[in-house]
Amino acid sequence: MSISKHISRRDKLARKIGQDSIAIISSGKQVKRNADVNYRFRPNSSFYYLTGSNDPDSILVIVGGKKAEAILFSHTPNIEEERWTGPCLGQSGAMQILKMQAAYSITELPSLLPKLCQGKSHIYYPLGDDMVIEPLILKIISDLKTNTRSGTIYPQQLNDLNIILSEMRLFKDTYEIAAIQKACDISIKAHQRAMHVCSTLHFEHQLEAELLYVFAQNGCKHQAYDAIVAAGHNACTLHYTANNSPLNHGELVLIDAACEYENYAADITRTFPINGIFSPRQRDLYEIVLYAQRDTISKIKPGISWSILQKNIVKIMTAGLRDLGILKGSLDSLLDNHAYKPFYMHSSGHWLGLDVHDVGLYKQGEHWRKLAPNMIFTVEPGLYITKNPDVDEKWWNIGIRIEDDILVTENSHINLTAALPATIKEIEAILYSNKSGKYF
Ligand code: ZN
Ligand code: MG
Repeated sequence: MSISKHISRRDKLARKIGQDSIAIISSGKQVKRNADVNYRFRPNSSFYYLTGSNDPDSILVIVGGKKAEAILFSHTPNIEEERWTGPCLGQSGAMQILKMQAAYSITELPSLLPKLCQGKSHIYYPLGDDMVIEPLILKIISDLKTNTRSGTIYPQQLNDLNIILSEMRLFKDTYEIAAIQKACDISIKAHQRAMHVCSTLHFEHQLEAELLYVFAQNGCKHQAYDAIVAAGHNACTLHYTANNSPLNHGELVLIDAACEYENYAADITRTFPINGIFSPRQRDLYEIVLYAQRDTISKIKPGISWSILQKNIVKIMTAGLRDLGILKGSLDSLLDNHAYKPFYMHSSGHWLGLDVHDVGLYKQGEHWRKLAPNMIFTVEPGLYITKNPDVDEKWWNIGIRIEDDILVTENSHINLTAALPATIKEIEAILYSNKSGKYF
């Protein structure tokens, strides 16, 4: 962890909000799962972005100005407690490791926060998103207002901190790009293992276990999102996570899975035949999705509008479905009528970063955003054909998605997940060569 990055982000935020303002953001709370068991904690992404801390129940306050005055309120270590749950950063860690300007116990927040707010005109916090901070701020303002006759200045403007932070987080620095590449590399290994062992397995959950094994082996305790391991018709359910059906010979399996590395996400999808060989029907549809994905990726460079990606995918897939006779009519009228919608109902992709669906506006005012260096996002076309009386039965129950993670560079782009095979030839070669199951 490079703390200097977190410090420079705090300074940048302090300059953006200015000296009349303070910003407040919470790590999120430890949440009970059942009885004495908690969910595994993972901090709020923006809190981590500014602090580098993975501890729960902490609140960061930044006083605006040329340099940030960063104050962390967090749990105070207690020897008896640490014997059970292990060390936490506490106030000395906040000062020495996280390089805060001040650190206090979280129990001091109610008495100190009003003093920090007093005399400021703006408060920035995740407006409407934080049910712990929001009531506290409103109470502080209400209390300060009762003292206005004694000359107390209270904050009169509440601003959404997310707007500033999403814009900062949209552009990745070198440290973040390296962390996302690492998450991609480990996730690629996991997908490769799944392809290698698939023919020896019988259920979706067994494939999921192979993915989780690789994540854990590489030190990643968290998936970036719950893995989707969807065989046959399950692939037509976009967020299928039950992962408990049999792997049937002759069907495809769609795997959308990736880990988080130092809280940074990857997001990868591949679809392959369970028995190692694409059927002619599966091949026909797969080639359309692959071509739509590869051609769209090839167009990525700074200055391209975000909406071009989806338009390109839609055009290629509509033409492909028309060639197969699944859509009928002229290409222009099919495009005008959005005829692809029953078979492809999501967008071309999303920003990727600390959150798998990362922050950042897709439109600026009326206009779709133009791509710029150091943005990272996914390109993930898919075709999903469920039972549909308008479509020949031979195409039913096939779901295919191919998803890669793309970094925009100064003049072009880098596919961070290009090392994972996606062509029919490459995929069949991996699966077929391992039919004996002797991969390990
Ligand atoms: Zn995605
Ligand atoms: Mg995905």
